[in-house]
Amino acid sequence: MKKEYSNVRGTIDFSEREALIYEYLREKSLKFFKLYQYQQLILPLLEEESLFIKGVGQGTDIVQGQMMKIEGKSIVLRPEATAQIVRHYLQHRLDKKNNFYKFFYIGPMFRGERPQKGRLRQFNHIGAEAVGSNSFYLDAEIIKLALDIVNAAGIEKKELQINSLGCAQDKKKSAKKIKNDLAKDKKKLCSNCQKRLERNPLRVLDCKLPSCRKVAVNLELDKSHLCLDCRQHFENLLTLLDQLEVTYNYQPNLVRGLDYYTNTVFEITSSQLGAQDALGAGGRYNNLFHRLGAIEVPAVGFALGVERMILALDHFTKPKEIPSVFIAKAGVLEREVFFLSAGLRRQGIASNFDFCGKSLKAQMRYAQKTGAELVVILGEKEFNKKEVILRDMKNSKQETVKLEELAARIRVASRE
Ligand SMILES: [Zn+2]
Ligand SMILES: [Zn+2]
Repeated sequence: MKKEYSNVRGTIDFSEREALIYEYLREKSLKFFKLYQYQQLILPLLEEESLFIKGVGQGTDIVQGQMMKIEGKSIVLRPEATAQIVRHYLQHRLDKKNNFYKFFYIGPMFRGERPQKGRLRQFNHIGAEAVGSNSFYLDAEIIKLALDIVNAAGIEKKELQINSLGCAQDKKKSAKKIKNDLAKDKKKLCSNCQKRLERNPLRVLDCKLPSCRKVAVNLELDKSHLCLDCRQHFENLLTLLDQLEVTYNYQPNLVRGLDYYTNTVFEITSSQLGAQDALGAGGRYNNLFHRLGAIEVPAVGFALGVERMILALDHFTKPKEIPSVFIAKAGVLEREVFFLSAGLRRQGIASNFDFCGKSLKAQMRYAQKTGAELVVILGEKEFNKKEVILRDMKNSKQETVKLEELAARIRVASRE
């Protein structure tokens, strides 16, 4: 076959294994979103470009050339969902209906940058946003929710990194400190970071280049930039996490790449992922509503990277599903196989059979290859007596079963 088509660079095809894990992660998260009473929003993949310029921030990597723009239009494929959910809230004046909401979303996000290892052009997020409260209990809830999902997914080696950026005034204070402290090392920074140091010094801490990291690591940051309220908020949150027995690493150098974050920021990292080691991240964004809609609404949220979690689940095994069989036929019983299969499906038993006129031997090979544990063999002689053969592929044992008892027998055999 000529190799004419391949997927676009920076995209991934989810075939059977990845798709199974994706569904599994969806299921686990849906369970916890229900438990925590978050409601789903399904929003378009297309948004106005200006939403992210204003919301995420002009100086951020996302806005600086990383958005996937529709040519000739001021429309982009969404790079993230937080600004989008704020847009939804403002557009529908949700503040007039209620003052507190808990949302979740699952779906693809896009970046327009040149793809590199571990960075995708299209990737999926499982995320949540709690809107309308500055309570540190809500910060604790959202962090616990994110961890519950990661735990339920079965990802073992993970850590919670946490910091507080403080309010807008506090951020200005730490930006000033970073600018002063790094002034002497400015030449050691990449050209990007040299610009950042002028415009948005906090973002220097986000640079992934080893040379910049070496400089940033020497910065001595602590909680001294926090005003009394913000410090109290952070201390209260950490105490709550202690009481919930959530272990965390206080990381004063953690800032997150988006301008809208205030106060709490956190990352869930996994040693299974190497350099691009965050499974997900989140934080508080008490100024984003003001940036986009000139109203004050405090909020906090997170997003987990589906592809990162799939990478961390390299030992994933398929969960036990409903009982299933492959129906093989000997002779010309196509119609009987078709209706036997339909009958089993009606009784909640998954079934499949050959559509390609394969020989019995080839059908058995196919059943083996596709991992069928039970095979029903339909022969003309047995069928006339309303019987079939049920074969257990694991131990190669087979038995004759009356048609009317077949479903019950399959259920028992698939538990054995
Ligand atoms: Zn403050
Ligand atoms: Zn840099």
